[in-house]
Amino acid sequence: MVKLICSECGRRFSPKEKIFQCICDGVLEVAEKKVSFPVNKIRKRKNSIWRYREAIPVESDKNVVSLGEGLTPLLPLKYTDLEILAKLDFLFPTGSFKDRGSSVMISHLKDLGVKKIMDDSSGNAGASISAYAAKAGMSCEIFCPSYASGGKLTQILYYGAKLNRVPGMREDTEKAILKRTKEAYYASHNWNPYFIEGTKTLAFEIAEQLGWSSPDNIICPCGNGGIYLGLFTGFRELIEKGVVSSMPRLLGVQSSVCPPIYNAYREKIDFVKPFKQISRTIAEGVCLAKPVRGQLILKAMKESKGSFEVVKDDEVIRGLRFLALQGVFVEPTSAIVIPAIEKFYQNRMIGKKEKTVVVLSGSGLKTTDVLASSRFLSLEYQRAS
Ligand SMILES: [Zn+2]
Repeated sequence: MVKLICSECGRRFSPKEKIFQCICDGVLEVAEKKVSFPVNKIRKRKNSIWRYREAIPVESDKNVVSLGEGLTPLLPLKYTDLEILAKLDFLFPTGSFKDRGSSVMISHLKDLGVKKIMDDSSGNAGASISAYAAKAGMSCEIFCPSYASGGKLTQILYYGAKLNRVPGMREDTEKAILKRTKEAYYASHNWNPYFIEGTKTLAFEIAEQLGWSSPDNIICPCGNGGIYLGLFTGFRELIEKGVVSSMPRLLGVQSSVCPPIYNAYREKIDFVKPFKQISRTIAEGVCLAKPVRGQLILKAMKESKGSFEVVKDDEVIRGLRFLALQGVFVEPTSAIVIPAIEKFYQNRMIGKKEKTVVVLSGSGLKTTDVLASSRFLSLEYQRAS
C-alpha cells in the first residue's frame, strides 16, 4: 500500500490525508509504490505520460485528468562539435513540462475528492495547474510574483483561475499563500510529492526513446528540482525494475542571480543555505531562494555522480539565440542549459563521445514580452528601421 513518508523525521501518512507537508514541516515523498513497466504493452499505448500507468500511483482510472500530455520529441542538435539530444519538453498542452506533474497531482486530488485548490508559482506551474484544475472542474487560485511574464498570467486568467499578484521576490509569494492554507487545499507543485510522480515520466520517455536505455548525462534547469528529482526518481525505478542498467549523470543549471544549490555543491555541504536574492533574472523559473527539496537534490546529485553549473543572463540570451537559429524557440529559463553544455564539457563532466540529453522545459511563446525588450531585439529593430 502506498504511503507518504516524511524525508526529515520518517513519519508515515496515508496518501488519503489532505496534507502538503509533515507536521514537522518536512517534505513528503511517495513510498512503497508497486511500479512495473510492461514494455510490450507500453509500446502500443497512446503518446501520453499515462502510457506508464503501472508506474503512476493514482488510484482510480476514472479520476485521471489528462489533456493528452507527453512523449515529447527527442531532437538531435549539434552544439559546437558536440552532438546532443534536446528533449522538447515545452511541447505540452500549456507550453511547459509542468503538465507532467499537474496531470498526476490533479488526478490524485480528484481521487481525494478535493474541490478547491491554490498554488504559488513564478508562472508556468500556475498556468499548468489552472489548466488541469479547469479540466477537472476544480476551483483554483494562483499566487504569482508581480514580475511574472504577462503570457503566463494571461494563460492563468483564461483558464478561469483567480490570480493574486504579490509584490517582491518569489519567496514573498510563498509567504503570502502560507497565510491562507486553511481556505483551500494547497496544491503546491513544490511541496506535493505527487507532482514529482508526474515529472518522473520524463525519465521513462527518455529511456523508451533510447530503446530502453539510459543516456550518459542529462542537463536540466534546476530551481526547486522538479525536473532534477523527477529524473532521479524515474531512473531509479527503471533501474530497480531492471529496465535500464545505469543512472545518468544529472547535471543541474542555476542562474547566477539565485544559485543556492550550486553554492552548496561548491562548498561541498549536504544542505542548502537560503539565498538572499537581490536582483532579477530573465531565467525567472529557476529562482528559488530556499528550495524545499534542497537536501534531496544534493543527495540525488551525489548518487548520480552529477554536478551543478551557474550561468549569467547574457549567456542565457546567447543560448536562446543558438536554439532559435535551429528553429527551436524556448523561454530563457530553458535556454539556461545551452551555455552550461560548454561549462560541463570543460569541467570534464561530459565527454565528446557520450550521449547527452538537454531538457528544454518551457515555450518561448510565453515570454515574448520579456524577450521583446531584450537588448538583442532592440538592436535588431534599430537595424531593421
Ligand atoms: Zn516529519
